[in-house]
Amino acid sequence: MGAAHFVLLINTAIAVLFACAYAAIALGIDGQRKALWFVLPYGVGTLKPLSDALIPFVAFPEFLEWTGYAGFLAALLLMSPALRLFYGQPAGWRMVALVMAGGLALRALIFTWDRTSFAHGVAYQMPFIVAAMLGAFVVWHLPSRGRFHEVLCVMFTLLGAQFAVKPWIAASVGAGQTLADYTASRYAPISQALTGVTLLTIGLVLLLMVVRHALAEALELAERDPLSGLLNRRGLRARSGALVARGNVVAVSVDLDHFKQINDRFGHAMGDRVIVHFAGLLRAATAAVPGALLARLGGEEFIVLLSGSTATGLALADAIRAASAEVQEGLPPVTASIGVAEMGVGGSLDDLLRRADDATYVAKREGRNRVALAPVAALAA
Ligand code: GH3
Ligand code: MG
Ligand code: MG
Repeated sequence: MGAAHFVLLINTAIAVLFACAYAAIALGIDGQRKALWFVLPYGVGTLKPLSDALIPFVAFPEFLEWTGYAGFLAALLLMSPALRLFYGQPAGWRMVALVMAGGLALRALIFTWDRTSFAHGVAYQMPFIVAAMLGAFVVWHLPSRGRFHEVLCVMFTLLGAQFAVKPWIAASVGAGQTLADYTASRYAPISQALTGVTLLTIGLVLLLMVVRHALAEALELAERDPLSGLLNRRGLRARSGALVARGNVVAVSVDLDHFKQINDRFGHAMGDRVIVHFAGLLRAATAAVPGALLARLGGEEFIVLLSGSTATGLALADAIRAASAEVQEGLPPVTASIGVAEMGVGGSLDDLLRRADDATYVAKREGRNRVALAPVAALAA
């Protein structure tokens, strides 16, 4: 096995490793199945080094040359739909098919041209340049752009640029008359190293970007209640820091009245529907309150944290109580008991939540379907 074959083998292994990394993300992190789309470009990408490696051993090398060309172009092009689908956008298959078909047609057109000619070099690289620029375009237009996106965009542009300078390199060092000459030429290792390093950098940046996005989504999932879509206790704690730091925090604690009876009479599924309806009601009631945090702390217990005075909290509590008592078609009537507490100077979130909860129980004791205000917190020493 010569040095050139060794490089091809390494390239195949790299592509397989990247495919495995994406498969591991997709199968190992909750809700990240869509990362499987990246297995496609890397899987297809192995066709290029594999077919190049086999060329000296077969009777019809042209077939393998086609396979390698088509495999490499498809791999580059498949990056774009994989990225789009991973970020929840339409794949854009039509563009991919168009460039792929154009690339193959161009390849057929130049098949008999002099391989050493500059025109052949330019025509050969053109589809790859377009595929790389499509990658840069797609990355630039992804939602939630960050530093990784910017680096990736630059790298796709560099990938296109190195394809564009290849005809000049080939002209100056010689790429060989025949396919067999190419493998032994000085151009082959330069070309492969240039593309290899650029693609490896793209692969790493892309992997980091996908891992970061996957982890952010997994964290978001871990901080939300799946039934209502509101924050859970952990999410509330994680996000309340800025609100608490600003001071003037009011907590509005809501507990549905006799909820157990709804479950008992109408079934658990109906209970769930009431919870979902109520979450929507809370969202609507707080839609105009900037920075309000909504959470479902337990079965039928909700909390709203907002910045403002006791009066703001009481007004919101009244609005929620009135809205919850409105009869909804298809849902059993339900009322809510609400406790309002204002955070004292130097008070903690735990203390605020406990006082709001205590006030809710006062509202329960006083007959339910009402709002109770927690006594002002004792000043912290
Ligand atoms: P009170 O007026 O004193 O608040 O009475 P309650 O029946 O609302 O209070 P209790 O805490 O006794 O009952 C809460 C019930 O909520 C008990 C539990 O079965 C039910 N629950 C908890 N989580 C869920 C859920 O996710 N879905 C449904 N459908 N029910 C739930
Ligand atoms: Mg209850
Ligand atoms: Mg309860």
